[in-house]
Amino acid sequence: MNLILLGPPGAGKGTQAELLQKKLNVPKLSTGDMLRAAVKAGTEIGKLADSVMKAGQLVSDDIMINLIRERILESDCAQGFILDGFPRTTAQAEALDKMLVQMGKPLSLVIELTVNDEILIERIAGRFSCAACGTGYHDVFKPTQVKDTCDICGSHEFIRRKDDNRETVTSRLSAYHAQTAPLLPYYRNKSILRSVDGMAEIKDVTASINKVLGEASK
Ligand code: ADP
Ligand code: ADP
Ligand code: ZN
Repeated sequence: MNLILLGPPGAGKGTQAELLQKKLNVPKLSTGDMLRAAVKAGTEIGKLADSVMKAGQLVSDDIMINLIRERILESDCAQGFILDGFPRTTAQAEALDKMLVQMGKPLSLVIELTVNDEILIERIAGRFSCAACGTGYHDVFKPTQVKDTCDICGSHEFIRRKDDNRETVTSRLSAYHAQTAPLLPYYRNKSILRSVDGMAEIKDVTASINKVLGEASK
C-alpha cells in the first residue's frame, strides 16, 4: 500500500499515520519530522528550512522532492509507505507521480482528512509530543493516561513545536489553502481521492480510514 494522508495542519495526519503504520506494517514518512530532524542536526537542508518553517511557509519544492525520493528508496519502503505532509504543492505531486512510475510503485490511495479552520487552531494550540519516542498528544483531546508520562515509552519529557503558535498557524493555514488544497482536484481527477470526516473522535476517524482501505482492497 502506497498511501498519502492529505489535510491541513492539525487535521490529524500524524496521529492517524502513527496508527496506520502499525496496522499496515509500512513506515510513515513525515516530511515535517524529517525537516525538524535536519534543523536539529544543523545540516545544510536544516539551515535552509529553519527560517521558512518558523514563518509558516513552505520549504522549496527541489529540497522536498529530493528528500522524499531518497527516503522512498530506502529498504523499509519496499512493501509500501504512508506519506504525511508530502506532497504539498502541485509541483511536488507531479514529481512524486513521475518518481513512483519510475520505481514501479503507483499510489494506492490519497486519504483527505477534512477539518474546519477553527478546530485546527484549537488542535494545534494543544499539541505536544513525547521527546523520546515522538508519540503525539493533545492537552484536551488526547492527554497522556498518567500525568506527564508517555503512554508508549514512559518518558517524562515532552516537546511543543515552535511553529505551533497562533501567528504561524495563520500563515500555515493560508499556505495550505493556496498551495496544497489544489491537490484535492488533482487526485480526484485520478479517481484515487477518498475524503474522511477528520472532525470526529480519533478512534472514529481511524474507523473511517479502515473502511476506505477495506473498500479499496475489494
Ligand atoms: P497533523 O499531523 O495533521 O498536523 P496531528 O496528528 O499532529 O495533525 O494532530 C494535531 C493535534 O490534534 C494533536 O495534538 C492530536 O493529538 C490532536 N488530534 C488528532 N486527531 C484528532 C481528533 N480526531 N480529534 C481531536 N484531536 C485530534
Ligand atoms: P503540520 O503539522 O502543520 O501539517 P508538518 O510537520 O507537516 O506540519 O510541517 C511543518 C513545516 O515543515 C511546514 O509548515 C513547512 O514549513 C515544512 N514542510 C513540511 N513538509 C513540507 C513539504 N512537503 N513542502 C514544503 N514544506 C514542508
Ligand atoms: Zn514516548
